[in-house]
Parts: sequence; C-alpha cells; structure tokens
Amino acid sequence: MFLVFLGAPGAGKGTQAAIISQKLGLAHIASGDLFREAVAKGAELGKTVKAYMDKGVLVPDKVTIQLVSERLNEPDCKSGCIFDGFPRTIEQAKALDEMLASRNAAIDKAVYIKVPQKELLKRLGGRWICRVCQTPYHEITSPPKVPGKCDKCGGKLYQRSDDTEETIKERLRVYFEQTTPLLDYYKAADKLVTVNGELGIEEVAEEIISGLRLKSVEPK
Ligand code: AMP
Repeated sequence: MFLVFLGAPGAGKGTQAAIISQKLGLAHIASGDLFREAVAKGAELGKTVKAYMDKGVLVPDKVTIQLVSERLNEPDCKSGCIFDGFPRTIEQAKALDEMLASRNAAIDKAVYIKVPQKELLKRLGGRWICRVCQTPYHEITSPPKVPGKCDKCGGKLYQRSDDTEETIKERLRVYFEQTTPLLDYYKAADKLVTVNGELGIEEVAEEIISGLRLKSVEPK
C-alpha cells in the first residue's frame, strides 16, 4: 500500500505518518527528514538544499524527485510506504504516479490532515523535536517531562532552524500557493481522505485508520 500524507507545516503529518507506518507495517519516507540528513552530513546535496530550506521555500522539483526516487528504491519500500511531505507540487505528484506505475503500483489514498491556519502558527512557534527519534513537543501544549530531553528515548530536543516566525509565515504561504492544488488532484482521482487534525494525536490516528477503512496490524 502506498499512501500520501498531505497537510500544512505543523498539521501533524510527521507524527501521524510515524504512528500509521508502525500500525500498518509500512516504510515512512519524509522528504524534509531526508533533506535535513543530507544537510547534517555536509553532503553535496545538503549544500544545495540548505539555502532553500532556510528561506522556507521549496527545493526544486528535480532535486526532490531524484532524492525520493532513490529512497523508494530501498528494499523496505517494496510492499509500500507513507510519503510524508512529498509530493508538494503537482509536478512532484505526477512524477510520483510515474515512479509507482513503473513498479506496477499506485497511490492508494491521500490523507489530508486539516488544521486551521491560526492553530498552525501556534503549533510551529513553540515546537521542539527529538534529535534521535523525531518526536515533536510543544513548549505550552505538550512539553517534555524533563526540559530539553525526549520522554521516549532521552534524546536531546532541538528547534528547527526554519521554525522562526518569518520562515514559518513563508512556509505557510508556499504551502497555500503550491501544495494545496494537490487536494484537488487527489480528489479528482477519488483518493482523498480528509481528517480533522485538531483532535488529539491518538484520535487523529484513529480517524485515519477508519478513513482508510483498514484494521491496524501488528508492527513487523
Ligand atoms: P518539512 O520537514 O516537510 O517541513 O520540510 C522542510 C523543508 O524541506 C521545506 O520547507 C522545503 O524547503 C524542503 N522540502 C521538504 N519536502 C519537500 C518537497 N516535497 N519539495 C520541495 N521541498 C521540500
């Protein structure tokens, strides 16, 4: 099964993709994480993409499609995966359809996690993320038990360099301009499942599972 998770920055795509990929035994491809890894490694690709990420704008389609396509070739994606943060443009969505068609596969559903803009600004502003397991926290709404430390794995928490007020506004602008047309793209293909992203984390996960009309299975 191949799923796309759609939603604005801060909607909870990463959190939900991590939960649902576990429940359904699917690989999890997060394009933003792939880019951040490349930057952290000091790889050539990292140097190319850092400037785009710091500004809050999209990395060019060609670079993004190439990176995701390489990740999709890895063995854990053979029977399916969740795409988190990809596609973000119509061109990427078309490229993804082609990548999967060449494997005799297709996107089964696109899950849209819907959250009002006011709430997104609040969430992104106080966001802290575990450097090891990527679990997100929020200063006000879901702080860690020990400041600066992940409750789950003890990893160090950090704030993303693109979670500044100015960059957040730009990322949201880019989302509304370039990514929201994907909602119509998947709706026209009768693949769009919309869930209320304002609910609690577990409730959103339940809505996704029931929206997909699936029963969760034990993780592999
Ligand atoms: P994210 O972690 O998904 O919020 O992504 C962080 C940043 O990585 C974005 O603001 C973009 O600069 C870049 N990025 C991630 N995914 C994509 C994509 N599918 N297309 C273009 N740029 C992307």
